[in-house]
Amino acid sequence: MFIPFNVPPVCPESEACVREAIASHKISGDGAFTKKCHAWLEEKTGTARALLTTSGTHALEMAAILCGLEPGDEVILPSYTFSSTANAFVLCGAKLVFVDIRPDTMNIDERLIEDAITPKTKVICAVHYAGVACAMDEIMDIARRHGLKVVEDAAQGAMSTYKGQALGAIGDFGCLSFHETKNYSMGEGGALLIRDDDGRAEILREKGTNRSQFFRGMVDKYTWVDYGSSYLPSELNAAYLYGQLQIADTINDARLHAWALYRDGLAPLAEAGRIVLPYIPEGCIHNAHMFWLKTKDLAERTALITYLKERGVNAVFHYVPLHSAPAGQRFGRFHGEDRFTTAESDRLVRLPMYYGITDDDVHTVIEAVRAFYA
Ligand SMILES: *Cc1c(COP(=O)(O)O)cnc(C)c1O
Repeated sequence: MFIPFNVPPVCPESEACVREAIASHKISGDGAFTKKCHAWLEEKTGTARALLTTSGTHALEMAAILCGLEPGDEVILPSYTFSSTANAFVLCGAKLVFVDIRPDTMNIDERLIEDAITPKTKVICAVHYAGVACAMDEIMDIARRHGLKVVEDAAQGAMSTYKGQALGAIGDFGCLSFHETKNYSMGEGGALLIRDDDGRAEILREKGTNRSQFFRGMVDKYTWVDYGSSYLPSELNAAYLYGQLQIADTINDARLHAWALYRDGLAPLAEAGRIVLPYIPEGCIHNAHMFWLKTKDLAERTALITYLKERGVNAVFHYVPLHSAPAGQRFGRFHGEDRFTTAESDRLVRLPMYYGITDDDVHTVIEAVRAFYA
């Protein structure tokens, strides 16, 4: 028996769409499936404009460029995140200012952001860890009062909402990931959500050309108009994703079901004070991207992961806090005290979670965790 940590989402709908894309002899970007994904994302999230990208990382890069960051500008972000969140801003020459997280959600602590603002601050980047929203009302209010842009790293947040609004559609820019480890996948891919679209994003994404406007008949010449790169995915990837978007609720419900089994099965251990379970703040609807638990400390976490592995359960941890990584030290600084970032990240374990995990497998994992604490 072996229960993997992740299995990329597969469904017959994706296979049918990919076959259709191949048969259409249109496999470069911005074809029929990309347009269907854009329409789905715009409808589902309520954003003005959604653009598929080659990765969540590239959506973040586009967001950083579109924020108009210049060398020396500062970006406030949590240290407990993936390197891509930080790299996007570093590539623009920005300086990273890390702020501590809240232990309950592992998201940036909104109460600490304002103190980290300097005359150089341009952007606040909110990472919605595990698809559970940051305190966006507070973050948007701080940004408004200080004239800052807000980038949401909603890489893990597709289908999650905050007070009824889709994650990624609240700030100036939202970045989704459709990597194979995420709830919906196209292998490698992502999307940029744009709240107030001025047309620069599609030029940036199409090699600095006005090709998209040309195809819509808005301009009579197709030419190089600004700096840009190539951030558009192949139709094959878009088709694979679109198949899953067609059954998005089925996938979401199945994940939430597995998540609830974990929570109910592990609640007695949490009530006995042996472990800590995820907290979902009022007003947040999450997408069961992840099921995590926290052990007493690092030593206990290492022992638990080893114990589970011996029983065929692949549980993992992640994110060495960026401020303690070599590049994090070079490109950023931690503002204030690291009360929770390091200590809490050392305790966190992620249990197997994917579309298609069986109830039996979830119960096996729960039993193994219980046996460890028995
Ligand atoms: C997955 C992820 C990314 C990067 O997305 P890719 O599609 O793999 O480039 C960025 N930030 C967070 C928080 C992620 O989980």
